[in-house]
Amino acid sequence: MLNIKNLHKSFGQNEVLKGIDANIKQGEVVVVIGPSGSGKSTFLRCLNLLETPTQGTITFEGQNITDKNVDINKIREKMGMVFQNFNLFPHKTVLENITISPIQVKKEKPDVAKQTALELLEKVGLADKANAYPASLSGGQKQRVAIARALAMKPDVMLFDEPTSALDPEMVGEVLGVMQSLAQDGMTMVIVTHEMGFAREVADRVIFMADGYIQEEGTPEQIFTAPTNERTQDFLGKVL
Ligand code: ADP
Ligand code: MG
Repeated sequence: MLNIKNLHKSFGQNEVLKGIDANIKQGEVVVVIGPSGSGKSTFLRCLNLLETPTQGTITFEGQNITDKNVDINKIREKMGMVFQNFNLFPHKTVLENITISPIQVKKEKPDVAKQTALELLEKVGLADKANAYPASLSGGQKQRVAIARALAMKPDVMLFDEPTSALDPEMVGEVLGVMQSLAQDGMTMVIVTHEMGFAREVADRVIFMADGYIQEEGTPEQIFTAPTNERTQDFLGKVL
């Protein structure tokens, strides 16, 4: 589904990604871990071109999306993204937050978009919050709305950038639970997280990034119980 070849990204003199090669298969759940500042967010943002790579190619569903002639907005519609800080529209209800893109971007009929939104709210356990405003929701609820909003565009892949990092500890589980059920439904997902228990349980593959490279990747079993790379060992020694 996604093929990343020799991906480089610099901010001025600061080369953050120094040549990343990776493949994400349909239905795969890939968790990206690594120290703060190692380029995990930059990597994720390059995948849907929120950042423009300085070198390398990204092929998505057979199309080279780093090509200048590509319609970035069409590509982004197929890639749902969930951020650390929810980014909900504060002056719109939960339902409006979820239906706005399907209606405005995908030209769905409002009643169709609404029906989909209600089903998605059911799925994330917030059927009773359709008419609430974001300010009245807890962090965990906001993040579940953000996930529903991304799903409303019927993406082929979901990208998550530390979706639980801004949450109080008691709300982490409800968001991870929604993500786990998405994984079970077969959604293709790339997830940056520090939740090692989740990674262990849900990931098909774990990628460890540091110093601008993928240092090591493997099954959760391999990475968490028998990492071979010294940087991985050092990192896991600190976080586990
Ligand atoms: P991580 O998500 O692993 O913590 P990031 O991808 O956010 O790492 O950041 C990696 C490096 O890139 C950091 O040194 C950060 O300061 C830099 N960086 C990220 N985004 C920008 C930007 N928009 N402009 C300049 N530097 C950036
Ligand atoms: Mg980050």
